[in-house]
Formats: sequence, structure tokens, C-alpha cells
Amino acid sequence: MVNITLAIIKPDAMAARHQGKILDRILQGGFNVRGSRIIRMSKQQAEGFYEVHRGKPFFEELTAFMSSGPTMPLVLEKDNAVADFRDLIGVTNPADAAEGTIRKDFAASLGENAVHGSDSDENAEKEVAFFFARADILGVF
Ligand code: ADP
Ligand code: MG
Repeated sequence: MVNITLAIIKPDAMAARHQGKILDRILQGGFNVRGSRIIRMSKQQAEGFYEVHRGKPFFEELTAFMSSGPTMPLVLEKDNAVADFRDLIGVTNPADAAEGTIRKDFAASLGENAVHGSDSDENAEKEVAFFFARADILGVF
């Protein structure tokens, strides 16, 4: 799974109609989209996805936000996918994100920061499995 990462275009970016521009950045960045969905998570699903953050002060805000509207989970394939996608999106707080990153250009705040990207190969595998059946991922398995 080292060439796979899980991205999510978050509700703020979907509501702002930025999903096309973000997908263009992803494609121009050399990633292949191997799976895609458009879903609105339930609060419970969002809590499950972000289980690692349960108990943190922003957990309630984060899971309410992530279940507030449509999202696009994406399976992305590229050499060094996890690290390269984190580079493409920039750091968590858009105020600190590097020029030309997705979060710098499309995110409004620390909480509503346009995109998710897995932080390790192990978590990428778990996060892909959270949203996608194997049969719905093109050419990876
Ligand atoms: P990343 O998404 O960059 O991996 P984290 O895993 O630390 O960042 O946090 C998950 C998500 O939780 C962030 O993308 C952001 O939407 C939200 N978040 C993180 N820290 C805060 C915070 N201090 N206040 C509000 N929301 C936060
Ligand atoms: Mg994270």
C-alpha cells in the first residue's frame, strides 16, 4: 500500500465549489485517482473516521463539520503517495501553509481546511478501507 493515500475533499471546499480545482491540482501533481465517492457522513461515521482524535478539544467541532455536508473521499495512487500528498496540501493550519499548496489556496481556517490526507501508510490502508470496498478501487488490489 505504499503508493496509496486517502484524500477527502471536505465540506467547506465542496460548498465553495472548489472540488474541480482541487482535483485538477491532484491530477497535475501526478496522482492517479483510483477511487472516488461523494458522500455525506453521519456524525457517527465522522466520529469513527476521526477516532484517533476523540477526547481532543476540537473533536466535537471537527466531527460536526465533517458531517455537515457532502464530501469526496478519493483513493490516490502515486510513488510516495502519503508524503507527496501531504506536501501538496500543506500543513494543517492554512495560515501557515506554503505558497501554492491546496490548503493555502482553498482553506479558510484551521478547522475548515479543505482537504484531508492520510499521515502514514498504515493509516492510509485503514482509511481507504473505511470508505471503499476493494471492488470499487481501480487496479490497486
Ligand atoms: P491533518 O488534517 O493536517 O492531519 P490533524 O490530524 O492534526 O491534522 O487534525 C485533523 C483535522 O482536525 C484537521 O485537518 C482540522 O480539520 C481539525 N483540527 C486540527 N486541529 C484543530 C484545532 N486546534 N482546532 C480546530 N480544528 C482542528
Ligand atoms: Mg491527520
